[in-house]
Amino acid sequence: MADNVQDLTLEDLKERARPCFQCGICTSSCPVFRVAPELNPRVSVDSIITRGEVPREGNEWLCAYCLMCDQRCPMGVSLAEILMEIKNISAREGKAPPDVIDSAQSLMQDGCLSPISSRSEKIRAELGLPELPRANSSDVLKLFKATGAFEVLEANKDKQEEASE
Ligand code: SF4
Ligand code: SF4
Repeated sequence: MADNVQDLTLEDLKERARPCFQCGICTSSCPVFRVAPELNPRVSVDSIITRGEVPREGNEWLCAYCLMCDQRCPMGVSLAEILMEIKNISAREGKAPPDVIDSAQSLMQDGCLSPISSRSEKIRAELGLPELPRANSSDVLKLFKATGAFEVLEANKDKQEEASE
């Protein structure tokens, strides 16, 4: 892993979550919770504090990082950061969800989260819209390698392949 990536540990997260008194304001403020109640920031924080473990269900991947929970927490807990770090720890353990792995692969190859389809290109041409800009894939790859994202992605792809065998 590259030196410039700060990897927070579970102990770091416990320390950051310590002020939480489980009021639930974060959850009632979360716009994603309203449509996907499996994302429940209060429960995620509770899992860190009381069970001392990163939640295994992977619901934190639904977080849109809107920061509403951060803004409203009366105890100043940085929930969005904690959820982000839960995802980082899961990814380092090779447990990123398949959709996320696919998006990361597309980002590394094409510089965008979803590949530009030939159908999209055709429709854009018919509408007289300019071609979409293409990222320089070698520059993107350099970024992936410099941040350690390349190793994390490869480890997740390996785990995904093992699971499908
Ligand atoms: S709003 Fe803050 S104190 Fe309340 S449950 Fe969420 S993290 Fe805990
Ligand atoms: S940052 Fe994530 S968990 Fe917090 S309110 Fe937004 S979507 Fe919900």
